[in-house]
Amino acid sequence: MAPIEVAQYDYIVLGGGSGGSGSGRRAAGWYGAKTLIVESGRSGGTCVNVGCVPKKMTWNAGTVNETLHTGKHYGYDIPAGIKFDYKYFKETRDAEIKRLNGIYERNWNNEGIDLVHGRAHFVEPKVIEVANEDGTTSRYAGKHILIATGGRPSIPKIPGAEHGITSDGFFEIEELPPKIAVVGAGYIAVELAGVMNAMDVETHMFIRGEHFLRKFDPMVQETMTNRYEAAGVQLHRQHGGFKEIKLIRDGKGKDRLIKLISNDGSEIEVNELLWAIGRAPEVEDLHLDIPGVKLNSNGYVVVDEYQNTSAEGVYALGDVTGQAELTPVAIAAGRQLGSRLFGPAEFKTAKLNYENIPTVVFSHPEVGCIGLTEPEARQQYGDDKIKIYKTKFTNMYYSLMPAEEKAKNPTQMKIICAGPQEKVVGLHILGLGVGEMLQGFGVAVKMGATKADFDSCVAIHPTSAEELVTLR
Ligand SMILES: Cc1cc2nc3c(=O)[nH]c(=O)nc-3n(C[C@H](O)[C@H](O)[C@H](O)COP(=O)(O)OP(=O)(O)OC[C@H]3O[C@@H](n4cnc5c(N)ncnc54)[C@H](O)[C@@H]3O)c2cc1C
Repeated sequence: MAPIEVAQYDYIVLGGGSGGSGSGRRAAGWYGAKTLIVESGRSGGTCVNVGCVPKKMTWNAGTVNETLHTGKHYGYDIPAGIKFDYKYFKETRDAEIKRLNGIYERNWNNEGIDLVHGRAHFVEPKVIEVANEDGTTSRYAGKHILIATGGRPSIPKIPGAEHGITSDGFFEIEELPPKIAVVGAGYIAVELAGVMNAMDVETHMFIRGEHFLRKFDPMVQETMTNRYEAAGVQLHRQHGGFKEIKLIRDGKGKDRLIKLISNDGSEIEVNELLWAIGRAPEVEDLHLDIPGVKLNSNGYVVVDEYQNTSAEGVYALGDVTGQAELTPVAIAAGRQLGSRLFGPAEFKTAKLNYENIPTVVFSHPEVGCIGLTEPEARQQYGDDKIKIYKTKFTNMYYSLMPAEEKAKNPTQMKIICAGPQEKVVGLHILGLGVGEMLQGFGVAVKMGATKADFDSCVAIHPTSAEELVTLR
């Protein structure tokens, strides 16, 4: 038998998503490493195709509808029943994403990166095999191999669960369902439920506890859960789970009908069911036992602070490691690794600092946070070392509106300070425009700003953000 041809690379990157692309481009584009990206799906990964990008576009579409609703309070004669062509919106969004897929591939090509479309797995500690799209297989050897295969949405193991969709399927919807059930309490559930509600879809959220966004500061949990309810989302709190899902009628939009049967026997019929109960790392078919890459008890790849796995010359980053599952985190970790492996001597200890990563939930309204929650800060520093500054007010945008509208649109801010210097160790904001607001405050927190530093910055008036530098 003829020997199998094995192409040699300095760097093989499994997964052309945020982390894989960021790392491969740094290695090849900056330092000339001979690099191969293997991608089994669409170039750009989760963020571009079924994550941040289409999500934000859909959030924008929902925001347009919210603005139409508020226009009347400013005197605009906005007719009732304005039609929304969701199919048109989806097709336009899809076309833009296709354009982005092309940009990713052109950038890789410009930087001399080879791209293979196919599914990869290890066959030797430093050799991978790719099942190509045309049915053939090919093998590649790498001095360094990066696992950046991301994750996928989970579905519960109950009869009929397959009749629901996940966040991936959410972006396939062509016709808005008149009524949707969203199961889950994490940020993806909150974002997608918020978008549906903003588009006037009857939205039911099923959560296990009293509040959603349970990993966030209690202020965020309580205010946002109550705000969603006030804005019309039908919350099923303390929900005990489902025992069966039945497809009553297949089809799109209003023609689709699904029955959800809860463990307590209660039933509800909806036109779409969205599971947003968490994500799992994409590792099963990689044959990680061959290089000896260890996984933790939740199945994520175990890495040290330099993104090294337990196998020499094999690295992992991004969602597959379960570390702060965000696009800029995966990109930043990937770039640091690319510099460390292939850059000059001063980068030999390059690594991402995972502390104080700002994050935004594109809910309605948005939520932004950086640093510790209040309970975390109290536990870490002790109650007597913590000082909390907080405020709640109505953004001027809503001040011309009736009281019930104002109540539906809160703005809230909390700064958590520690020690005699009152170093800002946590910042939590919710309200109109906080997503854009957070990035700049993130720089300040990352630099170790104190409350006095915040106060020394002259306010910009009239904005919401000015409250953050005038809190007493
Ligand atoms: C609905 C949703 C909304 C989100 N919104 C935001 C947001 O607003 N902001 C934010 O920062 N983050 C957001 N995220 C998270 C963000 O998308 C991820 O953190 C990010 O994409 C992780 O990058 P990654 O490189 O680790 O993995 P991915 O981007 O998932 O890339 C992994 C790639 O590997 C490929 N792959 C998997 N297995 C193999 C294999 N065996 N062989 C070859 N290729 C393989 C996959 O096809 C995929 O393209 C969102 C995620 C979701 C699901």
